[in-house]
Amino acid sequence: MRFAVLGSGSRGNSALVRSSDTRILIDCGFPLRETLKRLARLGVEPGELDAILVTHEHADHVHGVELLARHHAIPVYLSDGTLQGMRKPVQPAGLLKAGDRLLLRDLEITAVGVAHDAREPLQYVLSDGRRRFGLLTDLGSATATVLECYRGVDALIVEANHDSEMLARGPYPYPLKARVGGQWGHLNNQQSAELVAELGWETLQHLVLAHLSEKNNTPQLARQCFVDTLGCDPDWLQVADQHSGLDWREIA
Ligand SMILES: [Zn+2]
Ligand SMILES: [Zn+2]
Repeated sequence: MRFAVLGSGSRGNSALVRSSDTRILIDCGFPLRETLKRLARLGVEPGELDAILVTHEHADHVHGVELLARHHAIPVYLSDGTLQGMRKPVQPAGLLKAGDRLLLRDLEITAVGVAHDAREPLQYVLSDGRRRFGLLTDLGSATATVLECYRGVDALIVEANHDSEMLARGPYPYPLKARVGGQWGHLNNQQSAELVAELGWETLQHLVLAHLSEKNNTPQLARQCFVDTLGCDPDWLQVADQHSGLDWREIA
């Protein structure tokens, strides 16, 4: 199994997972033309995609979903709440609920419910039967279910949204600061690092920090927080950024 990131941050999120048989896009927060450019950078034609999984209806995750799916006849899977919340709804190939498992060719997908201020947000763990990949962004707190579902994954993309001090001193109005930093908002660097420590990171082949706020975080701060909390090698950590995402990583 391999994975890559088209881009990650508050201006658009999208990730790719592929096995020998299957190519799955998770979210598409970029306009169509930008999505195609980024897919091409990773050597993928849109027509090759077997499915799009959607996490939730916030624009940085769904902006490009409807057009991409319609233009290239790609099946879309999401929760009913997400579908209801989308400005440009799709014709879903299937509706998912937290805890559901879905088999797409040789990949099994587990939908995990998370605490985030969307209608029915899901995050996903994908397995080819041998290795497991987890995507975990847009959550304000880690629940027992999250810990259970992501424990033992071989590769993890995890949100490190903000540095709590930068958020407190930064330009956001108070209600937005409260939202972002709240139980249903986004994980800060420290919360995220502690979550990864609790999951047990020693068996992880890849740890990728994602959904970094451009106003309330820096890659250096996020990286340092993980290095301090986990005691891991700074060069082992990857950061997926808004502009260039992350190139393919092989899960051996
Ligand atoms: Zn988001
Ligand atoms: Zn969100």
